[in-house]
Amino acid sequence: MNACELVMLGTGNALVTRCYNTCFVMQTPGARLLVDAGGGNGVLRQLELAGITPDSLSALYLTHAHTDHVLGAVWVVRAIAQRMCAGQHGGTFHVYGHDCVLHVLDTICRLTLPAKVTSCIGERILFHEVKDGDCVHIGDVELLCFDIRSNKEKQFGFRATLPDSRMLVCLGDEPYNEACRAHVEGADWLLCEAFCLYRDRDTFKPYEKHHSTALDAGRLAGLLGVKNLLLYHTEDTDLPHRKTLYTAEAAQAFSGCVFVPDDLERVEVS
Ligand SMILES: [Zn+2]
Repeated sequence: MNACELVMLGTGNALVTRCYNTCFVMQTPGARLLVDAGGGNGVLRQLELAGITPDSLSALYLTHAHTDHVLGAVWVVRAIAQRMCAGQHGGTFHVYGHDCVLHVLDTICRLTLPAKVTSCIGERILFHEVKDGDCVHIGDVELLCFDIRSNKEKQFGFRATLPDSRMLVCLGDEPYNEACRAHVEGADWLLCEAFCLYRDRDTFKPYEKHHSTALDAGRLAGLLGVKNLLLYHTEDTDLPHRKTLYTAEAAQAFSGCVFVPDDLERVEVS
């Protein structure tokens, strides 16, 4: 395997119906980290289609407690806990997030899952609270967790240092805040939301929803001197042409490589 591969389980925004909500698996020789889990049981289908068993995940990182990111985590916890209860999963599973998102996940799990399943939480499914600026190690990946300074819902992105020393930054699902520059500038890879095309801004109204466009993301990538830009968390009205259109628009303002993956696409981080 290459030093790192992203398996995009979902690439859409909260209300998409033609693809899954944005979440992905970041896998290296020594780690398989799920980042967010989308809005529900569909995460299990996406994992299955990607050939990834929940058992094989090392950890889950949650950015924030909105429905399209956290509810799928309830299903991941359930699937793993049931395997643990049945003696089919011999290890532990680690969930990383800030205090608010862990509280939400814990509460929903306790309200909606069987007691046998929730008994694994705290025993073999371990929640780890991270604070702004904390570094955690997941296998051979170092994650620096940082507050993206959302004005809607507390949200943490991360800067991953990969086994080959490349830096990959995930900004979650909201626009970049200048306060985060030190964590993002010069990254090899930037994962950034693009709600829609700039040319379609009057239709989708990204700015009212505190989101950005492919053109904005391209400008940002250029300003921050990143090498590769990956766009996700988009609308889903024209998925067959999304890759071409979004790539072209971001490239108007950015001379590096632009990736606009489809659901289940694998992106080699090189
Ligand atoms: Zn979202």
